[in-house]
Amino acid sequence: MKSKYDYLIVGAGLFGATFAYEMTRRNKKCLVIDKRSHVGGNVYTKSVHGINVHVYGAHIFHTSDETVWKFVNGFARFNGFVNSPIADFNGERYPLPFNMNTFRKLWKDVKTEADARAKIASQTMGYHPETAKNLKEKAISFVGREIYEKLIEGYTEKQWGRPCEELPPFIIERVPLRFTYDNNYFNDAYQGVPVGGYTAMIENMLVGSDVLLGTPYKKFVNKYGSVSNAVIYTGAIDEYFDYRLGKLDFRTLKFETVAMDVADFQGNAVVNYTSKKVPYTRVIEHKHFENARTNVTVVTKEYPAEYSDGCEKFYPVNDEKNERLYAEYAELAKTVKKVYFCGRLGSYKYFDMDDTVKNAADLAEELESN
Ligand SMILES: Cc1cc2nc3c(=O)[nH]c(=O)nc-3n(C[C@H](O)[C@H](O)[C@H](O)COP(=O)(O)OP(=O)(O)OC[C@H]3O[C@@H](n4cnc5c(N)ncnc54)[C@H](O)[C@@H]3O)c2cc1C
Repeated sequence: MKSKYDYLIVGAGLFGATFAYEMTRRNKKCLVIDKRSHVGGNVYTKSVHGINVHVYGAHIFHTSDETVWKFVNGFARFNGFVNSPIADFNGERYPLPFNMNTFRKLWKDVKTEADARAKIASQTMGYHPETAKNLKEKAISFVGREIYEKLIEGYTEKQWGRPCEELPPFIIERVPLRFTYDNNYFNDAYQGVPVGGYTAMIENMLVGSDVLLGTPYKKFVNKYGSVSNAVIYTGAIDEYFDYRLGKLDFRTLKFETVAMDVADFQGNAVVNYTSKKVPYTRVIEHKHFENARTNVTVVTKEYPAEYSDGCEKFYPVNDEKNERLYAEYAELAKTVKKVYFCGRLGSYKYFDMDDTVKNAADLAEELESN
């Protein structure tokens, strides 16, 4: 490889693509490599029977950051999709997030906000959010025993593969609770899905960069050596160091996707299955993200599982053991000059898409202002 790049970006996901765009607009030369055969990382979408399928799990863009919203709208037209998932508990259906519609469906004697608050308060079993020792206690302190048992416990235990009593309390802070009739899952000012899918959006971000797919970093380096002044590494930090301090734990998802000869399967993009008796956590019907007018539909069941070699690394397990190990890797990373570990795998942290975009744009700004 003759030409010298300013940046070698490992990973053509949202972080890598945002960083590449930010640098090419500053007239820097970027090479983006990815071990997968496509761009987009986990936001990759693929057209199946005219429906954009979210191949690595459903992705809804939501943000309250106007700069980030304007940024992504520069590469795609976002539709007005609003995420209003439905929970299925043994055939009973409840609107999410927990709001007055949910409460009235659960409890016939609840008519007003005051009724709902009183009902929940009567079921908190003496637990308080500040002193909760685990996820179960924290959840019950917020939503009461009944909502916890029907709509949180089974889903969460399937997702994390361990009892709620063994999970840290902070996980539950991601579930909003409302006392209005509002089924919009997110509280953010802006929300939507790119018309035509995320892949096209990422391809637009990568215009001006060189892109090599099907190219794992180590293989590339062995073949070409150093080709850039700096490396932006969005792969897994433990993998970069050949797991020399040990392996970081992840949860994975197995997807079962089928095309069906019906125009509509479940009438909604997302249905969460909250009972332990059902092995999957969610069923996604992709056409509803973009209101695709087709006579067929494509549906994906999501089965959470423990990560093992050969699976995709989806959710970091941020418990004490793994946080300690990650901190050791982060120290080791400081000894490697001009390699920046970023994105969800490099930072061993879950980031929503808006934070991913912001982090990448901030890093570009920081590196170029020095
Ligand atoms: C199931 C699921 C659902 C989600 N839903 C939402 C949502 O609704 N809304 C939201 O805001 N966020 C959501 N997210 C978060 C979102 O996926 C992330 O914010 C985003 O994908 C992170 O982008 P990234 O570039 O850091 O990582 P990635 O998308 O993982 O990209 C990293 C890329 O690096 C490549 N790579 C790794 N190692 C190497 C290597 N050694 N050599 C070459 N290439 C390598 C990978 O192949 C990958 O393409 C969801 C996450 C998951 C797991």
